[in-house]
Amino acid sequence: MTRPADHTPADAAVYKTLLESTKAIPWQIDWKTLTFTYIGPQIEQLLGWSPSSWVTVQDWAERMHPEDRETVVNFCVAQSQAGTDHEADYRALTKDGEHVWIRDVVHVMRNEAGEVESLVGFMFDISERKKTEQQLLDLQKELESLSFKDGLTGVSNRRMFDAILEAEWVAARRTGQPLSLILIDIDYFKQYNDSYGHIQGDACLKQVARALAGAATRARDAFARFGGEEFVLILPATDEAAASKIAERCRRLIFKEQIPHDSSPVGQLLTISLGVGTIVPTHQETAIDFVEAVDRRLYQAKQRGRNCIVSAL
Ligand code: GH3
Ligand code: MG
Ligand code: MG
Repeated sequence: MTRPADHTPADAAVYKTLLESTKAIPWQIDWKTLTFTYIGPQIEQLLGWSPSSWVTVQDWAERMHPEDRETVVNFCVAQSQAGTDHEADYRALTKDGEHVWIRDVVHVMRNEAGEVESLVGFMFDISERKKTEQQLLDLQKELESLSFKDGLTGVSNRRMFDAILEAEWVAARRTGQPLSLILIDIDYFKQYNDSYGHIQGDACLKQVARALAGAATRARDAFARFGGEEFVLILPATDEAAASKIAERCRRLIFKEQIPHDSSPVGQLLTISLGVGTIVPTHQETAIDFVEAVDRRLYQAKQRGRNCIVSAL
């Protein structure tokens, strides 16, 4: 490497030892010929390529992951041409065909006339850091999805329901299309827990959720656990007649599950009651008013003896 004139050969030996015993890998590129004038021997341990195999910047570019190559090379060339120090992260190819995340920190050296003469830099192995970053990103994604999911049944939770309803409410108000809602409540579920125990009660809720999740099939239809033993379906662009049909399908799906409920006054099997409502929203009412109106119908279904549907029809 170039060194100031007042440094002795003994100093050079010290610098060389220092450079070659760090974990970071030093290198130098001559800007005119775009060739390596130096690369630390540590490179061989990290990537498997011997120092003498690093001849031109082409070698550097070729030993880069194809997805990183164009952006990183263009960025580094532009920065170097502008004479700006810079750094770049990329995946370097190892001799075994694997990839290692590298952070290259580059300093632009100029001659007395101020022209770019060479680039010197250090390559750092940042694969561990990248792995941690990725794990954190994965965790964050999982957390986001978990916070919209009901822990017991795995279907959307109340938070997700609120968010979807709000979005669909605004969309329906804009398009003038009918928005339907079905509220579903398991009949005599307190007795179910009393008879079969809470664990069996939980298993039953999961089974009911699984069965009802298949009731509505359009892409924007949404199914969620509303709370406790209550579930809800949001049906955009769906009129009263279609919504009532889906409610009837829900009742049938639960009947098909044939879940025993010995202590139910309705019969021997688990049943559900449903309230159905349809609205073309305006600015006169809120989504909450609508949910409450549908809930009153669900209450009527309970009053009428349960295992039935109350809608406007
Ligand atoms: P109705 O026919 O009027 O709906 O009667 P019900 O007994 O189903 O209604 P109620 O609201 O009195 O009771 C709901 C029961 O649901 C009580 C509660 O313990 C049970 N429950 C709510 N969430 C869960 C849960 O996560 N797991 C279990 N096992 N039970 C739950
Ligand atoms: Mg209830
Ligand atoms: Mg109930």
